[in-house]
Amino acid sequence: MKTLVDVIGKSMGHWVGDGFPVRSLFSYQQDAEALSPFLLFDHAGPRNFEPHAGPPRGVGAHPHRGFETVTIVYDGEVSHRDSAGGGGTIGRGDVQWMTAGHGVVHEEFHSAGFSRSGGPFHVVQLWLNLPPEHKLAPPAYQAITADNIPVRSFERGIARIIAGEWGDTRGPARSFSPVNLWDVRLAADAEVTLPLPEGHTSMVAVLNGHVTIGGTGVGASEIARLTRDGEGVSIHADGEATLLVLTGAPVEGAVVGYGPFVMTSETEIREAIDDYNAGRCGAMAPA
Ligand code: MN
Repeated sequence: MKTLVDVIGKSMGHWVGDGFPVRSLFSYQQDAEALSPFLLFDHAGPRNFEPHAGPPRGVGAHPHRGFETVTIVYDGEVSHRDSAGGGGTIGRGDVQWMTAGHGVVHEEFHSAGFSRSGGPFHVVQLWLNLPPEHKLAPPAYQAITADNIPVRSFERGIARIIAGEWGDTRGPARSFSPVNLWDVRLAADAEVTLPLPEGHTSMVAVLNGHVTIGGTGVGASEIARLTRDGEGVSIHADGEATLLVLTGAPVEGAVVGYGPFVMTSETEIREAIDDYNAGRCGAMAPA
């Protein structure tokens, strides 16, 4: 079995644009090798937004290069538009998997409907690294709606398999390296053993509720980091709990980041900045 390494995630909140009140539960700037292939985990909300009459809140056009962004909506609605033609609105239970690759410019806002109505808002955005040979892959966009995500049921809980596989239940997301991304919901006092692969960087993020892993309590907006060695982990739910389970085979290569670009060297970062300034990361079509 895997064992607990530590619990991370106590972080000050900050705003991304004016729409996303996030806590960054981890960042590659802290511990790139140990977190690989994951780069960043932003936990937005849960927070209640009041009805809003002006333009929707969010973050305007900005670039990315060298990785993928994975946005999971638990409550609320997010609208996205990018320079490669990807876009759409995702709501509760939906996932947006955007491959920035060579480069995109995109914007991320509350949907117009959610902005007007207000209500609970709760979103996770992960940054997932690309293997060096795929860092300049063509941009791509996977809109993964809730009805396309298979559900694995077990005693006192379920797992929605977004990416990877649990037994014969396979998630729909296409990734460049092996990853598992599972939305796990536990009833109070559930005791479950999740079959996580040997060798993967393995983490259990608690989004709501409280669980105990290996005798250690893990609360909301905290992440239990597990050993790469071993298969599986046992989790006890101390009440109802919502977990995001993430595992991935570490990817090779140095991790050098600057703002929205994550590459393998300073030279590649300078190229990314030059390419963005010259419009070679794409440009947004007029709204
Ligand atoms: Mn972005």
